[in-house]
Parts: sequence; structure tokens; C-alpha cells
Amino acid sequence: MKLVVLGPPGAGKGTQAIMLAERLHIVHIATGDMLREQIALKTELGTRISRTINAGQFVPNELVFELVKKRLKDSDAKGGFVLDGFPRTIEQALMMDVTDGLSDIELVCSLAVPDSVIIERMSGRLTCSQCGAMFHLVYSPPQAAGICDDCGAGLYQRPDDKAETVVERLKLYHARTEPIINFYTGRGLLVTVDAAGDIATVSERTIRAVTDKGAR
Ligand SMILES: [Zn+2]
Repeated sequence: MKLVVLGPPGAGKGTQAIMLAERLHIVHIATGDMLREQIALKTELGTRISRTINAGQFVPNELVFELVKKRLKDSDAKGGFVLDGFPRTIEQALMMDVTDGLSDIELVCSLAVPDSVIIERMSGRLTCSQCGAMFHLVYSPPQAAGICDDCGAGLYQRPDDKAETVVERLKLYHARTEPIINFYTGRGLLVTVDAAGDIATVSERTIRAVTDKGAR
């Protein structure tokens, strides 16, 4: 099965994509991980990627495409895959549509979470400045306010988790993703999963949506 998973930041997209890959015995292709790996390995591609990111620009479609196409040639990807983080724009979706091995996507699973829930989830996160342990003001508060349970160091809010940053990221996500959703809806490939809930519940909904739709 060839799958795409879409979802806003904080919707648990990566977790659900990994779950789907395991349950369906297909490979998980996460473009974010692949980009970070190239940068870490300092490959020629990685150097081009970090140059773009350092210049404050988006990684160009062609670069991400090169990586995905290369990954699809690996033998373990022949049996199917779940794409996570790609396509991110309608341009990428249109490019996929004319690319061997990517033009026959069978299902696009869109994880839907109300913006208000995402903002509450993300803006309540606290990270330990020493060991990186994560807490949440509401869902898993530390025993002493502002102090890490594990190592006793101070907790802070990562810039990415600040409410105003989350709001901006959600705006960008919706602007870029709506055309993709419309495109795949038109193809009859889109399934929407209610992803507001705990991980296990959302996993069950996701696998059910995918297997129901895939069986048709
Ligand atoms: Zn700590």
C-alpha cells in the first residue's frame, strides 16, 4: 500500500505514520528525518540543504524530491510506504502525480485536530533545560512548578511551543495543505481521521480508516 499522512504540527503525525508502517508492514519515509540525516552526514545534498535553511529559505521541492526518489529505489520500499512530511505543498503533490513510483498513491490520510486543541497541547509544553525531559502544564505537570522531576534543573518553553509561534505555524499549515486536501479529495483518495484524543484511540481510528478505505 502507498500512503500519505497529512497533519498539522502537534497532531501526532509522525507517531501515527510509524504505527501505520508497522501494522501494514510497509516502510516509513519521513522527509524531515531524511533531511536531518543528510545534514548530519554532511553529504553534498546535505550541504546544499543546510545552506538553504541557514539562509532562512524553504528546502526547494527538487531537493526533497531527489531524496524521496532515491529512498523509493531501496528494495524495502517496493512493498509499499507511508510518506510523512511530503507532499507539503500543492506543487509537490502535482510533481508526485507525474513521477514513477509516486503517481499511484492509494490513500491520503488527513489527521484533523481543531486549532484550539493544538494550541493548548503545544503551548503547555515545558522542556527541561538540562536533560530534555518534557512536561505539560495540564497533562503531565512536574511535581514542583518549573523544576524537572528527573534532574532538578529548570524547565522552559521552547520558542516553537510559544502560543503565537504555534498560531503562525498552523496558519501556514492550513494555507499550504488545503489545496493538497482538495486535490486528493477530487481524486477520491482522502480519508479524514479525528485525531483529537489520546494516541491509542487515534491509532485505532487511523488504522480502521485506512483498512476500510483500502478494502474498497
Ligand atoms: Zn531534567
